[in-house]
Amino acid sequence: MDNFLYYNPTKLIFGKGQLNALPEQVKQYGTKVLIVYGGGSIKRNGVYDNVVAKLAEINAEVFELAGVEPNPRISTVRKGVEICKQEGIDFLLAVGGGSTIDCTKAIAVGAKTDIDMWDIVTKKASATDALPFGTVLTLSATGSEMNSGSVITNWETNEKHGWGAAPYTYPKFSILDPVHTFSVPKDQTIYGIVDMMSHVLEHYFHQETNTLIQDRFCESILITVMETAPKLLEDLENYEYRETIMLAGTLALNNMLNMGFRGDWATHNLEHAVSAVHDIPHGGGLAILFPNWMKHVLDDSNVLRFKQLAERVFQVDAEGKTDREVAIEGINKLREFWNSIGAPSKLTDYDIDESTVELMAEKTVVANPAYGNFKKLTKQDSIEIFKASL
Ligand code: NAP
Ligand code: FE
Repeated sequence: MDNFLYYNPTKLIFGKGQLNALPEQVKQYGTKVLIVYGGGSIKRNGVYDNVVAKLAEINAEVFELAGVEPNPRISTVRKGVEICKQEGIDFLLAVGGGSTIDCTKAIAVGAKTDIDMWDIVTKKASATDALPFGTVLTLSATGSEMNSGSVITNWETNEKHGWGAAPYTYPKFSILDPVHTFSVPKDQTIYGIVDMMSHVLEHYFHQETNTLIQDRFCESILITVMETAPKLLEDLENYEYRETIMLAGTLALNNMLNMGFRGDWATHNLEHAVSAVHDIPHGGGLAILFPNWMKHVLDDSNVLRFKQLAERVFQVDAEGKTDREVAIEGINKLREFWNSIGAPSKLTDYDIDESTVELMAEKTVVANPAYGNFKKLTKQDSIEIFKASL
């Protein structure tokens, strides 16, 4: 593995009733708090009322930015930045899923600069500061609660980009109460499961050697999520299943699994291109694309990594089979698992047909003409993977 420096300053406050820690955590950053949230799920499940009550304990002056979209938009980021500047906000509190947290990260940076946030998201300019922010997570999926990444969409240009500005975009703390995820509907629960598994798989496909510990960490998370997911989907308010999935989602992308190497991330790039044009759920897009990316990049030079995944995670019996046959069987088992929990498997499930393949492929190379680390891909590869996914 490569040399590395691991630093993650986010305090993880995990478990039932942990919202009680909120006043103490917020107090140190000031009194003017902007709560950022989505389309209203936190009002329906009571989380909003509980958060407001907790902030009242420290006499916080509370401001609100509601309506953060799934696949959060730069226009909403700009609205938040304006509120922060106008009101002199001290602290941001994201209450929601990955979209709300990602939007909050961008607002936090935007509040401390006169540069337009889209220039920072597209890496034309750099962040140099941010307002402090914390999160109350309500959906297990992205890992955004304990990483410095964020994904923002621009609907004027149909672009969706990942960016980050460590250490500024790490939450100061994240409160993870599995009870807060009880109300996540079945479809969003499935998308979250696919997303966290995809994060582990993105890590798993790297070109580094001697990653024995990291491989086993990744495999154990995949196996545990696959054991737990079907049970959770039959029993959405089961605390222990929600707890397992919540911890898995955080560990999948807090960069502990990829110490000493960088994973692939081509499938996320492909998915962002699909969402940028069609605004589909991130996890739904990943379920469609990941097995097709795998089949596209599989070759003699990398077959053993696929074989290891197939044998260790999908219990494929290699006896009497070629390495390639074992690898393909593992990929098919991943597809079968995602099908079995109800994830989509074709772009046509979202009414996406061949007519936008070229446009989506163009979006995959806007930031970089050759993307992916496990295997470098070009626009032509994107076209082939999208066509195989129709
Ligand atoms: P999300 O977009 O934050 O939320 C999806 C839906 O779930 C929303 O409609 C939301 O409703 C609802 N929801 C959230 N919590 C709920 C609850 N407790 N009960 C009922 N409904 C609830 O989903 P996400 O998968 O967490 O985030 C997706 C975004 O994150 C995408 O833009 C993706 O590209 C990005 N992403 C980021 C990272 C990262 O590291 N930063 C990694 C992967 C993906 P409300 O809006 O009404 O709350
Ligand atoms: Fe993701």
